[in-house]
Amino acid sequence: MKIDEVRDEFARVQAQVANGPIVPHVTADEIRSYLTLRYDFKQSLPLEEVVADVEQMLQTWQVQVTHPRYFGLFNPSVTLASVLGDLLVAMYNSQLANWRTSPAANEIEKHTLGWLTDKFGLPPESIATFTSGGTEANLSAIVVALTQAFPSYGEHGLRNLPAAPTIYLTHEAHNGYNKIAHLTGLGRQALRIVKTDPNLKMDLADLERLVTEDRKNGFAPFMVIGTAGTTAAGIIDPLEEIARFCRTENLWFHADAAWGGAAILSPTLRQHLAGIESADSITCDAHKWLSVPMGCGMFFCRYPDRVAEAFRADISYMPKKTDLTVTDPLMASIQWSRRFIGLKLFLAIAHHGESGQIEMIEHQTRMGHVLREALSTSGWRIVNATPFPLVCFTRDGLSHTSFLASMRDRQIAWMSEAHVAGVHVLRACITSFRTTEAEIHWVVDEMNRLFEQESGQKSGQINSDQTMAVPPESSRVQEPIKQ
Ligand SMILES: *Cc1c(COP(=O)(O)O)cnc(C)c1O
Repeated sequence: MKIDEVRDEFARVQAQVANGPIVPHVTADEIRSYLTLRYDFKQSLPLEEVVADVEQMLQTWQVQVTHPRYFGLFNPSVTLASVLGDLLVAMYNSQLANWRTSPAANEIEKHTLGWLTDKFGLPPESIATFTSGGTEANLSAIVVALTQAFPSYGEHGLRNLPAAPTIYLTHEAHNGYNKIAHLTGLGRQALRIVKTDPNLKMDLADLERLVTEDRKNGFAPFMVIGTAGTTAAGIIDPLEEIARFCRTENLWFHADAAWGGAAILSPTLRQHLAGIESADSITCDAHKWLSVPMGCGMFFCRYPDRVAEAFRADISYMPKKTDLTVTDPLMASIQWSRRFIGLKLFLAIAHHGESGQIEMIEHQTRMGHVLREALSTSGWRIVNATPFPLVCFTRDGLSHTSFLASMRDRQIAWMSEAHVAGVHVLRACITSFRTTEAEIHWVVDEMNRLFEQESGQKSGQINSDQTMAVPPESSRVQEPIKQ
């Protein structure tokens, strides 16, 4: 593939996004009537025309998550290398159900996952697969843990078990576990909510108490989920203590590091994930903090035999394996036909190098500190404690929802709201490696100004007297790594 044209297109799109609005103003009805009017699919339209129209819709009718002032959920800016990865995947349409059909793709994924397996400190014989996202990886973990703890589960299901299985996690864990409990047949009530300490980390004494009590009452505890970087507040559960507890109590320890797992690459941040190397399984999403397009989840497990037992299939019509050192992905994961998910991550790491990936992660972490600092010096109260670039904050007299709406109307920045330890907060996460210090200061100044207008209260310092008509230009901001 000639990449120069893609590079130019990529640069054009990034510049357009960075200098355009972050938040759209559109209703479902407007889009529906537009589509109904233009696309009855009765005749063929020139490709150029349709592509131009779709691009126009994407530019105006979506929250631009790759905008440097999108301080939102864990949706990253993406790099050229990772975008090229997805383009190649679509063009060659590699089928990763089995090994024989796509040997190159299978081995590229295995090579990439092996590198991360080593970073996480898992043993080399561990197995890892790419998933659609963190939810599929977490579902995989629960299915494998169930299969290991209850050998009859696979053939006879949950109703044959003498005791109801239970899982332990905190209120801060991802909400997707409710869906997983529902669809595995465990039932949502199988989730036991462990109390948190004042820093919102799992309280080990409460975990111990719940497990003991459940056992006494005839339940069958089998799994603890420790989150490394919670969605609302970036909290890291005490992974080492959870690992120790799980070992003595014979429970499966799943580390949900969907967002925070990327920190394992950084020599300065990896200490915060200590204990993850003892996990039985790990979830990490490359589409969260490794700056590749969705979806790129990963599931790691230290026991290949248990994964094989959980996902076994009888496949008389598939090409036979001739090499016993290879695993067919469909025998190690939930998906059957599967796209070449891992290529975007492979291309990104190969091109940027480990140091380029680390630089992107650490840059965002530094910008998180800049934001935290700028907010607290102008009178905002930070309510979460995390080494990761996620800030939850509030101040007296703030009407969170209407303040956020005004921020979005004025295209200051995209932030969300959350409840952290019972406190209503604004939540800002640095998700773009393009976000600069100047942009953060501009955003905080604008927020201070807006707060004064809306509440009539004086906020902290505002660095300039006049509203800056335009935010600092983003198009000049280069990736910290060369494209
Ligand atoms: C995002 C996230 C998930 C869900 O992952 P998806 O890729 O959205 O399916 C699960 N757990 C945590 C901690 C997350 O941040």
